[in-house]
Amino acid sequence: MSNKEYINVVGAGLAGCEAAYQIAKRGISVRLYEMKPHKKSPAHHTEDFAELVCSNSLKAQRVGSAAGLLKEEMRRLDSLLLRCADNCTVPAGGALAVDRHLFAKSVTEAIRSMGNIEIISEEVTEIPADAITVIATGPLTSDALCSNIVSLFGESLSFFDAAAPIVTAESIDTETSFKQSRYDKGDGDDYINCPLNKAEYETFYKELISAERAPLHDFDVAEPKVYEGCMPIEVMAQRGEDTIRFGPMKPVGLRDPRTGHRPWAALQLRRENSAGTMYNLVGFQTNLKFPEQKRVFGLIPALKNAEFVRYGVMHRNTFIDSPRVLNSDYSAKTRETLFFAGQLTGVEGYMESASSGLMAGINAARKFKELKTLTLPEETMIGALSRYITDDTVKKFQPMGASFGLLPELTNRSRDKKIRGEQYAERSLDTLSMFVEERIND
Ligand SMILES: Cc1cc2nc3c(=O)[nH]c(=O)nc-3n(C[C@H](O)[C@H](O)[C@H](O)COP(=O)(O)OP(=O)(O)OC[C@H]3O[C@@H](n4cnc5c(N)ncnc54)[C@H](O)[C@@H]3O)c2cc1C
Repeated sequence: MSNKEYINVVGAGLAGCEAAYQIAKRGISVRLYEMKPHKKSPAHHTEDFAELVCSNSLKAQRVGSAAGLLKEEMRRLDSLLLRCADNCTVPAGGALAVDRHLFAKSVTEAIRSMGNIEIISEEVTEIPADAITVIATGPLTSDALCSNIVSLFGESLSFFDAAAPIVTAESIDTETSFKQSRYDKGDGDDYINCPLNKAEYETFYKELISAERAPLHDFDVAEPKVYEGCMPIEVMAQRGEDTIRFGPMKPVGLRDPRTGHRPWAALQLRRENSAGTMYNLVGFQTNLKFPEQKRVFGLIPALKNAEFVRYGVMHRNTFIDSPRVLNSDYSAKTRETLFFAGQLTGVEGYMESASSGLMAGINAARKFKELKTLTLPEETMIGALSRYITDDTVKKFQPMGASFGLLPELTNRSRDKKIRGEQYAERSLDTLSMFVEERIND
C-alpha cells in the first residue's frame, strides 16, 4: 500500500480520464485535477472532460489496420473511452468518428458518476509528491507545470500542431459540391466533396501560399518544428504546386456528377456531428489569420459562402524526452511512484493517448497494491507503442502513433497488405488474451 489512501491524476483529457477510470474501477480512490473551466488551453473550448480538440475521427475501425487494432486491444482491456466512443459514433466510412460533444459528455458523466473519483478543479503547478501520481496534462500542458517538469527532468521539447476549420452544413454550396465517399466506401453521405478545375485550383494555390499567417507569439522557438501528420495546409503547399493535390486535395476515387470525371483537385468535408449540421475541412489544418481563412478557402467554389463555426488554429505541442525519462510501464525512471500518460509522453493521437492512460492507470493501481507493474507484450500495439517511446536507443525522439512498423516481424508474413494486417491483428489479440488471463486482472 502507498502511504496515502488515494492516487492523483492530473489532467482530465483523454489519457487522464482513462487512467482515473482504470484506477477507480480497481477500488482505489482518485483525486482528479483539471484546470478547466477556470483556465483553458488555446485549443480547449468546453467545460467537459476528454475534449477532442481537432478532428472528430478516432481513425480506422478495421481490426486489420494499425489504428483499428489499437482500439480493439483497448476494448478488450475495458477502455472507458472506447466504450463511450462506440456509443456516440457518426458515420465516417471505415473510420470511427464520434459526435465530439456527446463523446465528451458521456466520458464526463461516467467519471463523475464513479463514487471514488474526487474532482478538483484547479491548475496544478508542481508535480504532487504526496501520493502516487499520474501526469496527463497533454500537449498543451500549462506553462507553470511545464516549467516544473523541465526543472525536474531537464529535457522537454516543443513542436507544433494545427487544427482544421469547421463550417456549417447549410452554408456549403450544393450546386458545386457532391456527396460521395472515396472509392464509394461506406455511406455516400459521410463526405461532401468540393471539386476544383485546373484554373480554380491554380488561383486557390497562388493565394494560399501568399496568404497572411497568424503570429506565433506564445512559442519560444524561432523555427517551429511541425509534425508531418498535422502540417498546416499552407506549409505543405509551399513544397510544390502539386503537393496538396497528391495530399489532402487528392481527387482519386472521386467522380464529379456534373462532369462525369475525376476533378482536378478536391477538398473533402467530413461530417462533424450526428445531426450533420457541421463539417470539417479534412486535412486543412492551418495557421492563416482568420479573415485570410475565409478569403482563401472561400475561393473553393463550394465554400464561397461558407460560414465558419471554428477557424483553424496552430498550437504548441509539448512532449517529454521519454526514452531518457520513462520506463515502458509509463513510470519515471527517477521516481517510481510518478507516472506520465498521454500525448505528453510522445504517443501521438487521441486513442494512442488514451491507451497510454489505460496502462499508466493500471500500473499506478498495481504500484498502490504493491504488485509488479506491467508492460504489454511487444506483439500488441499498446505494448509496442510503450516500448518504442521508451527505447533509449532512439536518440532524436519524435512522437509516434499506432503503426504495424512497431510490431515484431511476422514469421508467416503475407505479401498481401490486407492479409498481413489481419495476421498482425490475430497474433496480437491471441497474445493479449493469454496475457490478460495470466496477469492483468490482479
Ligand atoms: C491543436 C491540436 C490538434 C490535434 N489534433 C489531433 C487530431 O486531429 N487527431 C488526433 O488523433 N490527435 C490530435 N492531436 C493530438 C492529441 O491526440 C490530442 O492532443 C489528445 O487530446 C491528447 O490527449 P491527452 O489526454 O494527452 O491531452 P488532453 O486531451 O489535451 O488533456 C489534457 C488535460 O489536462 C488539462 N491540463 C493541462 N495542464 C494542466 C494543469 N497544469 N493542471 C490541471 N489540468 C491541466 C487540460 O485542460 C486538458 O483537459 C491534436 C493536438 C493538438 C494540440
